Amino acid sequence: MGDLSREDEIQTIAKEAKRCRKCGLWKTRRNAVPGEGNPNSPVVLIGEAPGYWEDVKGRPFVGAAGKILDAILERINLPRSTIYITNILKCRPPRNRDPRAAEVEACAPYLDRQLEAIMPRFVVTLGRHSTAYFFSKMGLKSSSITKVRGRVFPADLWGSKVGVLPTFHPAAALYNIQLREDLEKDFQLLKSELDRMRNPG
Ligand code: URA
Ligand code: SF4
Repeated sequence: MGDLSREDEIQTIAKEAKRCRKCGLWKTRRNAVPGEGNPNSPVVLIGEAPGYWEDVKGRPFVGAAGKILDAILERINLPRSTIYITNILKCRPPRNRDPRAAEVEACAPYLDRQLEAIMPRFVVTLGRHSTAYFFSKMGLKSSSITKVRGRVFPADLWGSKVGVLPTFHPAAALYNIQLREDLEKDFQLLKSELDRMRNPG
């Protein structure tokens, strides 16, 4: 897919999500949060669902968890504007409750289409919901995030080879130093994988 049609497709998906009513979450949302960033990025970060501020602003990771994420991206020299960030669910569940299976099923086609368009080399799954979605796609058992995080799982998804890197959700690192260190370590791994991709051998 050429860059232009790729960007068109990403915009089309965003427009559809903004007026979507495929699950009940449209009733309580202020804004759908389709995702944002560079559709030509080799990396896509995937969170769970919009929270309070994301719903207000219509942008992913702009609250407290987003600040942590920004700081970590800064440290590995991967400015947020250079990558693409989205979520499993495009609308906020009331009171930030966990996504329901039916909501994930209704919303996932948007994510799948985004990934088909972007065809990233790496997908970073933030937290257990995002990780579980990809593990089921890969036909793997999703055990606990603690067990699977910090490794790149090679997969064949959306017609291309992609490395899936599960890590903690940045919100979990808000009040837990150890977890934050592990999260940073996992992003360091992403960084070295990207460097290796750019300068093989
Ligand atoms: N948490 C998420 O999973 N996604 C966001 O966009 C914000 C917070
Ligand atoms: Fe549509 Fe997804 Fe929002 Fe549900 S969460 S209304 S499926 S965009």
